[in-house]
Amino acid sequence: MALLEAKNIIFQYPDQARKALDQVSFRAEQGEFIVLCGPSGSGKSTLLRLLKKEIAPHGNVSGRLLLQNQPLSQFSSEQLAQTIGMVFQDPENQIVMDQVMEELVFGLENIGMPTEEMRKKVAEMIHFFGLEHLLHKRTHELSGGQKQLLNLASVILMEPQILLLDEPTAQLDPVAAKDFIGMLHRMNEEFGVTVIIAEHRLEELFALADRVIVLEQGRKTHDGPPRKIIEEI
Ligand code: ADP
Ligand code: ADP
Repeated sequence: MALLEAKNIIFQYPDQARKALDQVSFRAEQGEFIVLCGPSGSGKSTLLRLLKKEIAPHGNVSGRLLLQNQPLSQFSSEQLAQTIGMVFQDPENQIVMDQVMEELVFGLENIGMPTEEMRKKVAEMIHFFGLEHLLHKRTHELSGGQKQLLNLASVILMEPQILLLDEPTAQLDPVAAKDFIGMLHRMNEEFGVTVIIAEHRLEELFALADRVIVLEQGRKTHDGPPRKIIEEI
């Protein structure tokens, strides 16, 4: 059984002439690291946002989205918030709190985790991410790269099974981007979280990816191990 499965997804934004996604199907297994690539406008963001139910379909989506064989529509927003984590392109727009520590505990507080358990979990995560030096800072003082690491850490604290990332390094310098991708790799290896990442920095990711999915004009044109994709494109 696939962890996540999309079957023949067709999606069109109400005001657009062309379909944003046209008959897209794919499966993601537990622990897979999947890179979603394709030119700007090919549908990568739309696909990720549909998976996270960030776009309400208003009747213009067809096909099936399944999480552990259950239709995505049967999961509440709260359930999905804990199962599927998401990191966006803009490091700013995801941060809600003033202090780094507040940001890290925000999600866990929301799900009512007891304080002691929360402290222990956050301490472990801070150690894992090497974020000790940021702890007493205010979030707006952080660099873009630090903000993305904080976003990643905050999302992972919720222990999602699936992590969706929409060009998370697009606004980072090369060093910060490399750090971010390194962290993502460790999380995939150590926690077994399934990663689906839309990205342009392909060389770095091809080395880590189990699979690469290529979209062009809303259609899936390639889906396979990175070595095979390099030969094909
Ligand atoms: P990518 O992430 O690969 O750049 P997108 O999913 O953002 O691609 O876009 C796919 C298509 O859908 C494009 O033609 C884009 O113009 C269109 N699109 C994206 N977002 C919206 C929106 N909110 N409203 C209308 N059209 C959109
Ligand atoms: P809402 O969350 O707006 O109340 P739903 O619970 O019906 O609406 O879920 C709609 C969202 O879930 C859409 O974003 C859509 O992409 C996705 N979705 C759920 N089930 C399906 C399905 N069977 N086929 C395609 N998309 C689905």
